[in-house]
Amino acid sequence: MPKYKAPRGTYDILPGESYKWQYVRALFRQTARLFNYREIETPIFEDSNIFERTVGDTSDIVEKEMYKFQDKKGRIFALRPEGTASVVRAYIENGLHVKNNTSKLFYLGPMFRYDRPQKGRHRQFYQYGIENIGSVSPYIDAEVIALADHFLKKLGLENYQLQINSIGCENCAKDYDKALQEYFSSYRGELCADCQKRLDKNPKRILDCKVKSCQKIAVDAPSMLDYLDNDCAANFQALQAHLEEMEISFKINHRIVRGLDYYTQTAFEFVDNNLGAQNTLIGGGRYDGLIKKLGGKDQSGIGFAGGFERLLLAMKTEKIGFATEDIPDLYFVNIGSKAQKTGIKIMQELRQNDVSVEFDPDRTSISSQMKAANRAGAKFCLILGEDELVKKRVILKDMASGVQHEYPLDSIISEIRNRLASS
Ligand SMILES: [Zn+2]
Ligand SMILES: [Zn+2]
Repeated sequence: MPKYKAPRGTYDILPGESYKWQYVRALFRQTARLFNYREIETPIFEDSNIFERTVGDTSDIVEKEMYKFQDKKGRIFALRPEGTASVVRAYIENGLHVKNNTSKLFYLGPMFRYDRPQKGRHRQFYQYGIENIGSVSPYIDAEVIALADHFLKKLGLENYQLQINSIGCENCAKDYDKALQEYFSSYRGELCADCQKRLDKNPKRILDCKVKSCQKIAVDAPSMLDYLDNDCAANFQALQAHLEEMEISFKINHRIVRGLDYYTQTAFEFVDNNLGAQNTLIGGGRYDGLIKKLGGKDQSGIGFAGGFERLLLAMKTEKIGFATEDIPDLYFVNIGSKAQKTGIKIMQELRQNDVSVEFDPDRTSISSQMKAANRAGAKFCLILGEDELVKKRVILKDMASGVQHEYPLDSIISEIRNRLASS
């Protein structure tokens, strides 16, 4: 038989890890609810044009990293490489803007990119994110950032920094693109092949290039902040003032351009101080034109996304604990076929009363069942043998203290519920 393995760049979330995922997902949902965002789930594949038109066909994502496939009718689909375009597609298709002028949506789920797998970077990875569509107020920019900050704090992370930038609008970009082209033209021969193409088509993208030699040249490139028009400059000032009101500390980093074509004005990243090269926990920004590009109204939106993998790495580095691993409340030790009959009834009743119970019918001896109870980490053991059955009693053992007592069979459910409630 061949040995099957998960595809390269993918992995299984095993039971020993899955409780951590449930914990961070639940905290994200709770945080989003605090700001009145509501969950949306979109398909994991879409018409590939949705990403080509929005993420941008000169971006690495579309050029190299997208999983594209043809279905049986020859239609071209792509596994979603990010969440925003799908959410916006769903927003337009379902007319979400009709009911409420601003839509506040959050999502979580797997994304796919054909990238070289490395630490904290996978081909199927899990993101969480939010989108706020319909408002241009810089207060919303600050609130979106506040939500991200709230989430990281709630997880217990401390060692991170918020960096903000404004990448202006189309009006600002005219002069800025010219300045960049002028600057990078004198290095044309030293830029990587991709950046040489970008130089004419989309010079801003050079600032985002992962090639070391390009990054070196980009260090002294002109800053967008020097090219902001009045509106964009005022917006950026207002954002900073709101962040100060919220007592959220930040640093201006004019090198944040974000990887995608549709961003305008506010761009931000939450950067972990411990993680090294792959250190962006959350990245986001404002986008204009995206909604129109996908066939919607001319509306502006702002959002962010982050990867759960990197979040878990950051938590591990800061030695942050999780809520306890999933363990059963109770392990049922049942000896003999007569006792088992009664035992099955009791277990049914316990589960109907929200008590989680484990029982292994393949273990017959008391010692092997007790061993299994220990390994399962159960809080209590319920022991029912032929002797107890005759007396209509049952033994309840507290696994932490080792103390055990006998109780009448008919009061055991309420006894266990009381004990669990006070433990
Ligand atoms: Zn502008
Ligand atoms: Zn380059």
